[in-house]
Amino acid sequence: MTTGTSDRVRALLADVPTDLLVDGNWVPAASGRRIDVLNPATEEPIASIADGGEDDALRAVEVAARVQRSWGRTAPRERSEILRSAFDLVMARQEDLALLMTTEMGKPLAEARGEVAYAAEFLRWFSEEAVRIGGDATVSGDGGTRIICTREPVGPCVLVTPWNFPLAMGARKIGPAIAAGCTMVFKPSELTPLSSLALAEILREAGLPDGVLNVVTTSDPGSVVGPWLASGLARKLTFTGSTAVGIKLLGQAAQHVMRTSLELGGNAPFIVFDDADLDAAVEGAMVAKMRNMGEACTAANRILVQRGVADQLAARLAERMGGLVVGDGADDGVQVGPLVGPPALDKVERLVGDAVARGATVVTGGSRPDRPGWFFTPTVLADVRRDSALMSEEIFGPVAALVPFDTEEEALEIANDTDWGLVGYLYTRDVDRGFRVSEAMEVGMVGLNTGLVSNPAAPFGGVKASGLGREGGRVGIEEFLEIKYLAMPRRTLG
Ligand code: NAP
Ligand code: MG
Repeated sequence: MTTGTSDRVRALLADVPTDLLVDGNWVPAASGRRIDVLNPATEEPIASIADGGEDDALRAVEVAARVQRSWGRTAPRERSEILRSAFDLVMARQEDLALLMTTEMGKPLAEARGEVAYAAEFLRWFSEEAVRIGGDATVSGDGGTRIICTREPVGPCVLVTPWNFPLAMGARKIGPAIAAGCTMVFKPSELTPLSSLALAEILREAGLPDGVLNVVTTSDPGSVVGPWLASGLARKLTFTGSTAVGIKLLGQAAQHVMRTSLELGGNAPFIVFDDADLDAAVEGAMVAKMRNMGEACTAANRILVQRGVADQLAARLAERMGGLVVGDGADDGVQVGPLVGPPALDKVERLVGDAVARGATVVTGGSRPDRPGWFFTPTVLADVRRDSALMSEEIFGPVAALVPFDTEEEALEIANDTDWGLVGYLYTRDVDRGFRVSEAMEVGMVGLNTGLVSNPAAPFGGVKASGLGREGGRVGIEEFLEIKYLAMPRRTLG
């Protein structure tokens, strides 16, 4: 990192709150403890944040429960305007927020800018949805009853988000919660809290009333999220993260029969048929694989390639992957940053080693570069065998694993041979096949001749062990609303 950048980062960090947000005030943890936040490109501490615990958690959820009544009754336009102002503020600070994100998480600046815009779009989208919360009225089959349905905020929400998209994952939950009139207790990842804390401060500036959004950071997530779910004060859980943790929280939320939305892991198949436009398929694979250094739930985990084009695809991907510039994401021209931490790096190394031991060929990359920071060299593996561990585990790193197949049926059989079902991609020029395979894939989202499905206007989410519910799109706000049905006798005139 150049000295100029360091100075800029230092100035930025000085403005980011590092305490807990409870009832509109930034306060230290009751224990007084702090957690260091590290820059994964340098392994150096960049900030220290409050390490909240059970006492802090309980205070926060009590505030959220108390404020729910008044907040739930605010005019939709008022909530809409707060979100719209927050959108403007986030976009006005896009550069600063992007650099902050890169510094705490590692993704290259260009991608961080993209994520800031993506996050902001959720605020704008839900500012538009806040004033369109509808209902319906009808008459019972026998004509004797009026059935009037309205929508009410579900109540205080527990938000838990991962480190890989530190701003967007929070915005995708906070946006609809504000639009619907829900209060929140929010626990971002301990690895990347600064983006979330900066967003919370922006929402305050945008006029969000005290206590609507409360943020508790912690080194012991169970000691914060556990009491929230056990309190009986929160009515909804919305979680993005690993399937293992999601299942655990789903069990805890069941104790109070909470509404639950889960965005969990993926194991995306990326199918390239031999009739595909290979230029487009290579382009799409680079996006689906390398966005966020491969640390995405939507990452192409298994690239299934029809045998006729397998060698060609491997060679072309290797050329592209081998040419990527690896380094500190804050430096100009860098295309691949570090992984988030040592466990992530160890996992990628283990999965590559296992695939190679079972017969895969390393076409490019395959190891860590010799430099500080948690880097892994962009890698292409060809002829990956179906019994390799990476076929059933998220790689979460810059490793393209190519699995050859012969027939459409075989491709589908491999694609669906997983507990997960978040997203699937396919490349073909045959329209009929495109629809046929899309319909047969057991996933919540399909990229047909595209490597990117994320869009604030679209319903994001998975089936099977990839989750419950959808975020974004027209249905995104529904997850934060409860239907109330009013029955009334109906007598007709005359
Ligand atoms: P994770 O370990 O499950 O963490 C997610 C969040 O849960 C973090 O805030 C984490 O806190 C917290 N947490 C961990 N253990 C907990 C516990 N016992 N009780 C309560 N909270 C707990 O997942 P991750 O490794 O950070 O994130 C990567 C995973 O997220 C991948 O599986 C990826 O596919 C998935 N993901 C899914 C989507 C989607 O929309 N489907 C989007 C992005 C990522 P700490 O981080 O502070 O430990
Ligand atoms: Mg974790």
